[in-house]
Amino acid sequence: MEKKNIDWANLGFGYVETDKRFVANYKDGAWDKGALISDSTVAISECAGVLQYAQTCFEGLKAYTTEDGHIVTFRPDLNAARMKASCERLEMPVFPEERFIQAVSDTVAANEAYVPPYGSGATLYVRPFMFGSSAVIGVSPADEYQFRVFTTPVGPYFKGGVKPLTIRVSDFDRAAPHGTGHIKAGLNYAMSLYAIVDAHQKGFDENMYLDPATRTKVEETGGANFLFVTRDNKVVTPKSDSILPSITRRSLVTVAKEYLGLEVEEREVAFEEVKDFAECGLCGTAAVISPVGKIVDHGNEICLPSGMTEMGPVTKKLYETLTGIQMGRIEAPEGWIHVIK
Ligand SMILES: *Cc1c(COP(=O)(O)O)cnc(C)c1O
Repeated sequence: MEKKNIDWANLGFGYVETDKRFVANYKDGAWDKGALISDSTVAISECAGVLQYAQTCFEGLKAYTTEDGHIVTFRPDLNAARMKASCERLEMPVFPEERFIQAVSDTVAANEAYVPPYGSGATLYVRPFMFGSSAVIGVSPADEYQFRVFTTPVGPYFKGGVKPLTIRVSDFDRAAPHGTGHIKAGLNYAMSLYAIVDAHQKGFDENMYLDPATRTKVEETGGANFLFVTRDNKVVTPKSDSILPSITRRSLVTVAKEYLGLEVEEREVAFEEVKDFAECGLCGTAAVISPVGKIVDHGNEICLPSGMTEMGPVTKKLYETLTGIQMGRIEAPEGWIHVIK
């Protein structure tokens, strides 16, 4: 298989059209068998449920080449399960989990020429998503849906080295209590755009959202979960019903306990405690962990002891162990690495 002529190391995080995508349609109460197609455009009614009432959800995972040359994805079963939960909450039909995993594998295999080589730092980002495709004018779930999977190659996240982030405590909320913060719905992102554009304009990389009911507890950022390290090397990660359950964060918790022998606490985290932590990181598929160097609460600065030039020591160990597992340099727990070819 000849790879595309792409400068992998200098790729950014933007959409690059690849050759094939998977499409399945839901109609008359059933999913059709789906197909890999070449057309990257979607034609739907102007009154489609997704366009009028934002009935859509998505997933995100990566395919990459391991040290021994296999093309793999990382824990796609958890993406399938999470998409099932998103669909149920949005009154959308579930795309069966085994079929989800197969569709991801088939789409990656069909775009093998875009899977970056081992060691390049680049990956093939995989985006499964679903939307209400039939016309809806009175507010109700659509009758018809489309499930699609496309891929796009993305560059190394820490290009030019790791740079700890500066984040601010947001005055906007990301998720309502008992709302949709725990599912991967497009609507959660639409309403976060104002807050992130505002943060960037003011020189911050991300927003730290607090719990909307009391504004005293740490929730997450717009697209990543928090992981803290205490001064005595305990890993602490916030627990809340309105946080999106990050697969990366859940994997890092296992790595911390099983591989590094660290104590892990998943519990509510008061914002008051943050000033006492030694390290802070943001966890998600894109970066695995992005270190946070500074947290600004309305002019009041919390500078993490790990500083503004490198990852803290525990964060670094977590990062290196999980990326080592993903790349096949460290033995993975059973079922974590899904081999496509
Ligand atoms: C996708 C997402 C994450 C990260 O989840 P991963 O499964 O680790 O990629 C975290 N927070 C939000 C709000 C997200 O949408």
